[in-house]
Amino acid sequence: PADARAAGRRSRVGIMGGTFDPIHHGHLVAASEVAAEFDLDEVVFVPTGEPWQKAGREVTEAEHRYLMTVVATASNPRFTVSRVDIDRGGPTFTIDTLHDFKRLRPTADLFFITGADAMAQIMSWKDVEELWTLAHFVSVTRPGYSSEDYGRSHQISLKEIPAMAISSTDCRTRVRAGKPVWYLVPDGVVQYIAKHRLYREESDRSELSQ
Ligand code: ATP
Ligand code: MG
Repeated sequence: PADARAAGRRSRVGIMGGTFDPIHHGHLVAASEVAAEFDLDEVVFVPTGEPWQKAGREVTEAEHRYLMTVVATASNPRFTVSRVDIDRGGPTFTIDTLHDFKRLRPTADLFFITGADAMAQIMSWKDVEELWTLAHFVSVTRPGYSSEDYGRSHQISLKEIPAMAISSTDCRTRVRAGKPVWYLVPDGVVQYIAKHRLYREESDRSELSQ
């Protein structure tokens, strides 16, 4: 925002929503690439609230996902983390996230960053039309998912990024199987997962307070 003020223009703010269970280098590369291409002043990572479940599994408690996102983004001065979706509670809907950001950053142009898989989900909702009035969407390529051209170039930009064949699901599976996640997630996140024994058997897990 300071840069934007100095340049006499509206600030440009990216919003990177995700479960971040855990955050990995695919998320970070996507945010970095879009920030460079769209000349963003800031990218805000927004961990989702706690749904009852996601695709039939328990999602790790929000505070762990929030703290891992803080650890992963701390070294980048343009990356920040927002609690809006966590503090709202319940399952997260992008429309609510965007309404909150419009209120919190009334003078910013918003860029909502998604992978090709998440963009396809958004397009399947009813009432998508309101989304375009709140933000510009940037759909980044992701290995294993086809990047669809929705023919809405004013509302959705397609951005090719270096292919990072990493998913949080795979990271969780690897930890549970005792395999390394070094270099798939930032070093501090490897250490956070080990410290709190995340992604182990339920009975094996420590509480955040311990
Ligand atoms: P899970 O396997 O639990 O669904 P995930 O790896 O898909 O985790 P999410 O938190 O669901 O991560 O994704 C947040 C956002 O980041 C989504 O828009 C998703 O499409 C995007 N994303 C995740 N991984 C990548 C990747 N490797 N490359 C590009 N985009 C990605
Ligand atoms: Mg996902």
